Amino acid sequence: MAFLQIEQVVKDFDGVKAVNDVSLDIEKGEIFALLGSSGCGKTTLLRMLAGFETPTTGRIVLNGQDLAGLAPYERPLNMMFQSYALFPHLTVWDNIAFGLKRDGLPKDQIAAQVEDMLKLVQLGKYAKRKPHQLSGGQQQRVALARSLAKKPQLLLLDEPLGALDKKLREETQIELVNIIHNVGATCVMVTHDQEEAMTMATRIGVMSEGRLLQVGAPEEVYETPATRFVADFIGNVNLMDGTLTVDEPDHVVITCEGCTHYVGHGITGTVGMPVTVALRPEKIRLDATPPAGPHGPHNQLQGTVKDMSYFGSFTVYHLLLANGKQLKVSESNTERHCDLPIARGDSVWAHWSPTAQVVLTA
Ligand code: ATP
Repeated sequence: MAFLQIEQVVKDFDGVKAVNDVSLDIEKGEIFALLGSSGCGKTTLLRMLAGFETPTTGRIVLNGQDLAGLAPYERPLNMMFQSYALFPHLTVWDNIAFGLKRDGLPKDQIAAQVEDMLKLVQLGKYAKRKPHQLSGGQQQRVALARSLAKKPQLLLLDEPLGALDKKLREETQIELVNIIHNVGATCVMVTHDQEEAMTMATRIGVMSEGRLLQVGAPEEVYETPATRFVADFIGNVNLMDGTLTVDEPDHVVITCEGCTHYVGHGITGTVGMPVTVALRPEKIRLDATPPAGPHGPHNQLQGTVKDMSYFGSFTVYHLLLANGKQLKVSESNTERHCDLPIARGDSVWAHWSPTAQVVLTA
């Protein structure tokens, strides 16, 4: 039995299904990210775990205990909100001790737990400071320490780093993951930021319009997206609509406008079926001449470099194709596959291997 079981949960707000038949098992020690754009239902699902909303139908079971009918404060979990609102008049020490004091724990036990937490978030020497005397990242760590002080079975994080700027956010992501793993906490977090989900989570659940579209490890969701929405939502992708035109035991061919795709692995479909090919920009190579590969004229496109953007370790090229569409290509600058000095206006050949592409039928 999984540590957290979400079973066929629906939340209906006046006829609108904010969460629509979501089932999900989360194991002990996982950091699970619910990822989706605004309005997809991820916060509503988190609020149902916390007990701030009641499922219309379905069941939530934590460590064998059905949470139905338990008020938020009766649940063995803690939720940290985006605006983590430390008490401004209390010191770091007192902020962390707050919940423990309210629960009436003995003084020496409170002191021991607060000291443990301070050590964990490496803020021992800031114990006497007030929140306004700390950086944003430090405040965030105090908030996390406060959430973990009561040793909740489950930690719920609602956009935990939303208040931080990009650089601090990236540094804090790694710190947070280390802290959560060090205490062995199980965590469900909500984010709309796919990079944050990829960096922090052991598994990601991608949501859209109340439904859970795909669940998997970050690399799984990125490399083998199940639907067009997931492919497009996670990272950059070229999506090419076409038709399945050849179906042989060892390969299929998909014909798109201006290009044929030879795909040598497991697709079940029928000739004539509409499909979409998803191709990540970093899986495409550029050359001055058409590649002489084993797949003949397949998996290649000629284009003109319309735009290029340098990002240090890689450069992104936007190719304008003969059919008027664009192809995005990302070339590493440290390990260049292309010997060409590419400039705007150049005519180049883009090519890729059969395994670089994912064929989507949904
Ligand atoms: P965001 O990232 O913007 O917070 P979200 O993915 O977390 O979005 P939710 O807040 O869960 O989305 O909202 C899902 C849907 O349910 C939205 O259409 C929202 O308007 C609706 N909704 C949320 N709370 C309520 C409520 N209390 N009453 C009515 N509708 C609600």
